[in-house]
Parts: sequence; C-alpha cells; structure tokens
Amino acid sequence: MYRFVSVLVAILVMATIIWQNQPETIAASPQTGTQAQEKKKTEENSKETKVDKQETKRETSYNELNRFESWVILQKGTERAGTGKLEHNKKKGSYICRRCNAVLYKSDHKFDSNCGWPAFDDEIKGAVRRQRDKDGYRTEILCANCDGHLGHVFLGERMTEKNTRHCVNSVCMKFIPEGEKLPAKIILETAAEKKRRLREEAKMKQEAEKSKEKAEADKKD
Ligand SMILES: [Zn+2]
Repeated sequence: MYRFVSVLVAILVMATIIWQNQPETIAASPQTGTQAQEKKKTEENSKETKVDKQETKRETSYNELNRFESWVILQKGTERAGTGKLEHNKKKGSYICRRCNAVLYKSDHKFDSNCGWPAFDDEIKGAVRRQRDKDGYRTEILCANCDGHLGHVFLGERMTEKNTRHCVNSVCMKFIPEGEKLPAKIILETAAEKKRRLREEAKMKQEAEKSKEKAEADKKD
C-alpha cells in the first residue's frame, strides 16, 4: 500500500511539473522559431559577405599578363571556342579577374551553355561593366575594377531562368576553389598618389647618394 501511494505521489509530482512547464514551452516555441529564422538569415548574410568581402591592396600596377592574356584582356581578343580551361569546370568557388583579382562570378552563376566558353547567368553585384560593342550589336563585358575585357553578354536566349548569358574567355579569369583564400583585389594608385610616391622615391635616392658620398669622404679623412 505504501509503495502504491508513493508511486501515485511521484506521478502527481511529475504531472504537476509537466503542467507547470507547459505554458512556458508553448510560449518559448514561437520565439525559438524566430531565433532559428534570424540565425539562418545571419548565416545567409555572412555567406554573401564572405564572397563580397575581399581584401584590397593599393598597387602601382596590375598582375603581369603573358602575351596571349594581354591580347584577350587588353586588346579585346577572343580565345578559340572550346580551348579555355574553365569552360567545363564544375567545382565550387569564385571566378576572379586575372588582371586585378576582383571577384566576378560565383560557381552558382555558372551553367552549361555548350557554346565553347564558360557561361554565367549572373555576376557579383557591381563587378562587371557593360558597354556597346564596336560592332554596334553585341554588349561587351569588362571588369568594373580594371576595365579588362571579359567577353560579351547575351540576353533573351532562354537558357536559364535569369535569361542572361555572360560568355567569358577562360583566360580572363582565375578560379579560386571554395575555402581557399581570395587574393586581395588590386586597386591602382591615383595620379596624386603616384606623384607623391615618385617624389618620395626621388628624395630617398638623393639622400642615399648623399650619405654614400659622406661615407666615402669620411673614409678619405
Ligand atoms: Zn579586373
């Protein structure tokens, strides 16, 4: 009998605890939902910033280009269809400008167009500049940071939902796999900065010469 009563009491105590906690649980669940949503939002945002956030460095010149790269990027040449290294690249990562390292496209933007060059249906916001081609029909795309030629953009072909195809020369880009650190985007020094740098370099050279002369004179003494 005693055992029966203690079991009953235990059940009653448990029931009370559950009953007392219930309203809190109900009240807490919508909050948890919102928190989960907030967390997801933050994660999504940070994912975007991770791609968009790229270190920059001031330089006196962009990356060096070989002859073929120069021809395509600076003289608006086109690599032969099907010869580029990145056309069939399916890896996750970022496509950066060969000349200045600016991130241009993400692997999520890439699709198979079977046209002979890498194709993207979207770009990193603000990274690609458009201008009417010399032929008057096509739209040329250029790196917004260094003005290097990338290729052409075509609209209305209905290849993807975004209805846009950036047709880009492989040689104009470098692929950085996901998880690998992006090189810093090169920002060229301004004309004023260049003037100041040259002035300082000249001054330093002068001072070096002066101290060399002084050292030689001291040696003679
Ligand atoms: Zn560039």
